[in-house]
Amino acid sequence: MTDSVKIFKMAEELQEKLVQNRRHLHKNPELFMELPKTVQFVQDKLAELGIESKKIGGGVVANIGDPAKGRTILLRGDMDALPIEEETGLPFSATGKAMHACGHDIHTSLLLGAAEILKSMENELPGNVKLMFQPGEEVLSGAKAMVKEGVLENPQVDAAMMIHVFSGMNIEPGKVLVPKEGAASMAPDEFHINIQGKGGHGAMPHTAVDPLNIAAHTHIALQEMISREIKPGEKALCVIGHMSGGEAGNVVPDKAKIIGVIRTMDPNTREFLKERLVQISKGVASTFRGEADVEYTIQCPSVINDPEMRQKGIDFAKEIFGEEDVLPLDGYMDDGMLSGSEDFSFISEKVPSFMSIMSMGNAADGYEYSHHHPKTDFDEKMFYRGAAYYAYYAMRWLQE
Ligand SMILES: [Zn+2]
Ligand SMILES: [Zn+2]
Repeated sequence: MTDSVKIFKMAEELQEKLVQNRRHLHKNPELFMELPKTVQFVQDKLAELGIESKKIGGGVVANIGDPAKGRTILLRGDMDALPIEEETGLPFSATGKAMHACGHDIHTSLLLGAAEILKSMENELPGNVKLMFQPGEEVLSGAKAMVKEGVLENPQVDAAMMIHVFSGMNIEPGKVLVPKEGAASMAPDEFHINIQGKGGHGAMPHTAVDPLNIAAHTHIALQEMISREIKPGEKALCVIGHMSGGEAGNVVPDKAKIIGVIRTMDPNTREFLKERLVQISKGVASTFRGEADVEYTIQCPSVINDPEMRQKGIDFAKEIFGEEDVLPLDGYMDDGMLSGSEDFSFISEKVPSFMSIMSMGNAADGYEYSHHHPKTDFDEKMFYRGAAYYAYYAMRWLQE
């Protein structure tokens, strides 16, 4: 029996278990960086399989195989939920103010399934598979914390792969959707512009410096960055979601504030816009006799799909599922990339990586809500394919 047939069959046999584990996690969602019950669940399940694990950076890491026999590939699954009250009406709904509306309960279950498959083939693995169960993906902090605490060391990781399940698209479940190579998600950075004017009486504006006037000009000036300084066709956004300052109609306030987010897909553009944002904010403020101070928070970079890792992802998926089950993401999502963020980027900036998408809910079958919606639901019937893909990718990558 070939590895693809073997792994596919083993995954199929795990289907019921994948569903049960997912439902347990779904019913017990945890938020942000501390997921004590989820971490315990994962560690217990790994222990049942005879896999040692340890806690690191709020998550769990475990190894299967032998680093002395070859290289190490990391498989990532995230475990955190969202602060949303569930409205699916499912019998295993969560009841509190948290919900697995992004499918991370599924990722955790699928990765546990892959662990079971790989453990049973451990002697055949020509290298090592490192499992990474991370917290805090939604707050873009979990992967970073685990990298900081050494998830990529001991043994050193040579490459990484992840799966994200999607619902609410017009496609049957169980298909592998391949995002484009290079930047495959946007990098979001938040900025706060604190404008300092000089307060005064509304009847004597000449003795004051109006920070609201500065804020208004700054808002307009910042739009020109995208329309005049970014080349046509490149994806970059600058959206201001908050402007404030002042209380009364007859008082020139002392201060004003602008908060916004810049999203980019190219690291050079990202640097450029950050620099221009500061120059424009300070320049406009000084033009009108005020001052501006900019706080800029880099949240996470873009996920970079390594061309070779991505090609292997396509080849391996075709081997195990067949040609017709592997499709480019372009047909289903703008430009073949995520317009949102994914903190797997902190891994992909260190080692060659591949982010894959797997469909898990066809809108035509009633799975009409996509991520982060209180009614988001996923079709469970193809879960085994996720476990199979994780396991098969790791096995084949180590063989090559
Ligand atoms: Zn999400
Ligand atoms: Zn997610």
